[in-house]
Amino acid sequence: MTDELFRDDAGLLACDATITAVTEAGIELDRTVFYPQGGGQAGDTGALVRADGATLAITDTRKGTAPGQILHLVAPGTDLSGWATGQAVTATIDAARRQAHRRFHTATHLLCALVPHPVDGCSITAGYARLDFHMNEPLDKDALTAGIARLVAAAHPVGTRWITDAELDANPGLVRSMSVQPPRGLGRIRVLEIEGVDLQPCGGTHVANTAEVGDVMVTKIEKKSAMTRRVVLGFAGAAGPTN
Ligand SMILES: [Zn+2]
Repeated sequence: MTDELFRDDAGLLACDATITAVTEAGIELDRTVFYPQGGGQAGDTGALVRADGATLAITDTRKGTAPGQILHLVAPGTDLSGWATGQAVTATIDAARRQAHRRFHTATHLLCALVPHPVDGCSITAGYARLDFHMNEPLDKDALTAGIARLVAAAHPVGTRWITDAELDANPGLVRSMSVQPPRGLGRIRVLEIEGVDLQPCGGTHVANTAEVGDVMVTKIEKKSAMTRRVVLGFAGAAGPTN
């Protein structure tokens, strides 16, 4: 098990850690700031640096097959000789990429508050975010962009808390996502609360206040199927992929 420092502090960019495994699948650490791809959010990139200055570039982060396993991936062909279990490293993530993920992830929750329909797909990257809503009514791009801007300007605090399975069962509306059900049987579930706006199970990395979301706009609305409307978000002024 890796101690998941990003769960409690999404703004933490670096930590000291000890290597616990080096395999072709990836590097494992006793603790990490690297978020593994999941819940629609892309994994972190960055570097592991030893005290002697040796640096290993981390190209992505994924969950392993064992519960709680986090794999720090390296580029194919990387020479891992010299890297071994027990070595102390400083693990540092790409700050700009993380900040983009935080802003977009919180923005997708704002979108959920504006579009009261179930979500059946989600993708959050550094360049764009998209949410697929299970609905057939039309959506207005400019109205949604204005709605996000209003919630950003209102500077709502964003935070995580834990609720029990019993509380969740008593509030089925908390489960917005049709494709990803919150884990049950653990006794408690982590929920992301945007005060007065949105509450839903989420393990991703978020900003601490909606004001930090900044200038996010709806760049595209697509009809993916009879019952799916895809909303794509981008940073205002940024050129980037829209699907
Ligand atoms: Zn989320």
